[in-house]
Amino acid sequence: MAPIQKECDYLVIGGGSGGLASARRASGMYGAKAIAIENKRLGGTCVNVGCVPKKITWQAADIAEKIKESKAYGFSVSETAPFDWTMFKNKRDAYIRRLNGIYEKNLKNDKVEYMHGTASFVDGHTVKVVLDDQTEVSVKAKKILVAVGGRPNFPPVEGAELGISSDGFFELETQPKKVAVVGAGYIAVEMAGMFQALGTETHLFIRHDTFLRTFDPMVQEKVTAEYERQGIVIHKGSSQSKLEDIGNGQKRLHYKDSNGEGTMDIDTVLWAIGRAPELEKLNLSVTKVETNEKDHIIVDKYQNTNIPQIYALGDVCNQGYELTPVAIAAGRRLADRLFGGQPDAHLDYSNIPSVVFAHPEVGSIGMTEPDAREKYGDENIKVYTSSFTALYYSMMEPEDKGPTSYKLVCAGKEEKIVGLHILGLGSGEILQGFGVAIKMGATKADFDKCVAIHPTSAEELVTMK
Ligand SMILES: Cc1cc2nc3c(=O)[nH]c(=O)nc-3n(C[C@H](O)[C@H](O)[C@H](O)COP(=O)(O)OP(=O)(O)OC[C@H]3O[C@@H](n4cnc5c(N)ncnc54)[C@H](O)[C@@H]3O)c2cc1C
Repeated sequence: MAPIQKECDYLVIGGGSGGLASARRASGMYGAKAIAIENKRLGGTCVNVGCVPKKITWQAADIAEKIKESKAYGFSVSETAPFDWTMFKNKRDAYIRRLNGIYEKNLKNDKVEYMHGTASFVDGHTVKVVLDDQTEVSVKAKKILVAVGGRPNFPPVEGAELGISSDGFFELETQPKKVAVVGAGYIAVEMAGMFQALGTETHLFIRHDTFLRTFDPMVQEKVTAEYERQGIVIHKGSSQSKLEDIGNGQKRLHYKDSNGEGTMDIDTVLWAIGRAPELEKLNLSVTKVETNEKDHIIVDKYQNTNIPQIYALGDVCNQGYELTPVAIAAGRRLADRLFGGQPDAHLDYSNIPSVVFAHPEVGSIGMTEPDAREKYGDENIKVYTSSFTALYYSMMEPEDKGPTSYKLVCAGKEEKIVGLHILGLGSGEILQGFGVAIKMGATKADFDKCVAIHPTSAEELVTMK
């Protein structure tokens, strides 16, 4: 059967954070004829296997910690009932399904035509979509946005497929008793923290001595030490050579760490060793769109690829920020530029705040101290730090108190704040407001001029000496 033919102004491949935001703005605000294609679930990584279910699980982990800590405040809390992982998982899934429906309704409201199917390029203007019932649709578009996101990597380790990725974390029907999380990025650190807080025996395998290695050294050192204090077993200097099935749902992990070679029998191994662009089914090569050595699509700050009518954004690109608000903002600016008569609209990729939902949370914006020293020279950098015990922990025994540490990295005579790094309770919420200040070019003197809010942890940021 000959494929169904369609034409549009704007074809968006990928119904995730960036694609949906861009399609809805182009159609809803500027009246472009837009079509969006998604082959899994609307909302993409963030809604289905990323930010949203992750944060809900983090809240559960946070509650578990608060229940333990409540004793120090005089509550008689019995911890005999285990966390009902299955009930929690089903409820979380139901919430996500509701979100999927809301996303579909939003597309309708903004008059974006939505097709559920897999897109692949036929040429630079034409995309073939294979719908769920195998019907083929050929779409000719004036402009095409590639917003296909990424997928988790598995390592080239024998038996690696017996482990799960972060996607699999959200499919776990029951709580593992013992897990090995492999990786040192924010996803590994967040998932290890959640498992531990919820009562799973947690082993974290990292290659070096600290994790979160793109963050400021203060963050790396303090959070690694805090995870050890909490009882997470961190295997430093580690590598894995084999994973095998030993029956009864158990796996055996063969590894090496700073203590030598070993094996560990375990319920679940979670690989969180990085992500790769989801280009497999796209047949991108026919378009001659350029990618880098890691398969990321190369774009400029306007989201232009090397092919005039093809654009890309979000996790599939080389822009270095794999975050939902980045993809959304880039998608909206792109629609403003292509259909809204704003020829210079683009996302400013400097000073983007980000948070790690570790235990405790980490917030970071701007340069790390080593990067700032390298850029401006030691003599032009002044660093303010503060490490203290948050008032929340005042009622607890010394061994139960978590850390709070803040750092401001200031450059030049005017002490412009070029980096702000915080870890401690509430850091995610604290960072958003300070992010505005940093984006506006705040100096240390500006921070000093702001009267503190007492008693909070964040007040330390405006009273540093
Ligand atoms: C575990 C985890 C936790 C995270 N936590 C956070 C967080 O707390 N905060 C934050 O800001 N970010 C977080 N992220 C990152 C965030 O999810 C991504 O940066 C964001 O989703 C990227 O958006 P995107 O539009 O580029 O791609 P995606 O959201 O991945 O969307 C791409 C979509 O394209 C579809 N697709 C792919 N190929 C095709 C094809 N050929 N045809 C049709 N459809 C296709 C995919 O199915 C997918 O739905 C997290 C990610 C993970 C994995």
